Amino acid sequence: MALQLTKVLPYALAGWIPGGRRHCAMCNHRVWRFMPYRNGSRGVAPLMLTLEVVGSDVDHFECPRCGAHDRERHLLLYLRASGLLEWIKGKSILHFAPEKRLPRWLKEAGPASYTACDLYPQSPQVLRIDMLDMELASASVDLVIANHVLEHVADDGKALSELFRILAPGGYAILQTPYSRKLHATWSDPGIDTDQARLHAHGQEDHVRLFGRDIFQRITAAGFQSHVRGHEELLADAEPNKVGVNPAEPFFLFRKPG
Ligand SMILES: [Zn+2]
Repeated sequence: MALQLTKVLPYALAGWIPGGRRHCAMCNHRVWRFMPYRNGSRGVAPLMLTLEVVGSDVDHFECPRCGAHDRERHLLLYLRASGLLEWIKGKSILHFAPEKRLPRWLKEAGPASYTACDLYPQSPQVLRIDMLDMELASASVDLVIANHVLEHVADDGKALSELFRILAPGGYAILQTPYSRKLHATWSDPGIDTDQARLHAHGQEDHVRLFGRDIFQRITAAGFQSHVRGHEELLADAEPNKVGVNPAEPFFLFRKPG
């Protein structure tokens, strides 16, 4: 009981006392602060800090009211600011590893279809789809969302060519992923084969590579056009500290020509 209270109390204080100066785009509540992921930046592998890896804002991670994570909030803000949330109307969406709270906004935008999918579905509403071998017709999807998925996929080149195949001409793919601008080339090595090694080398136990600044060329090499834009460009009015997002994380938006 005492343990539960020490866990719950910081959330209650941060999320339920009126007057908070931060704002969660997902649930539209004002909060005092966003809760850290594990131990915040103190828990991040030292190499990730040295390489200035752009990823989640682990110090301002979870909304104490709705539980939305920073990259989920950032994606919603990007979808709105880019006009993509309106564009969704009448389109078909394929959403990999769907976040818990974002689907509501996507469905409210009036798509023709919305399909949640995962390699390891945790609920009956989520379809089992392997990104490396999708049993989907070519040119059958208008928008793919894969928010922090590519870093988990065994063969990113194959995944990208599969994503390109299933997208309709003119369709978009949102491919957020952690990466280091300092690292010239994406780094993976078959010798990095334990949870501990992957945590140190890739930043998380289940990340199979660390993308470098070549991430953008890796994606365009599959045929995509880059529509990547930064926080400053799209969200100049959204003060990162206030909305709890990492301003260094760009909007990884790519389009299939046509
Ligand atoms: Zn919230």
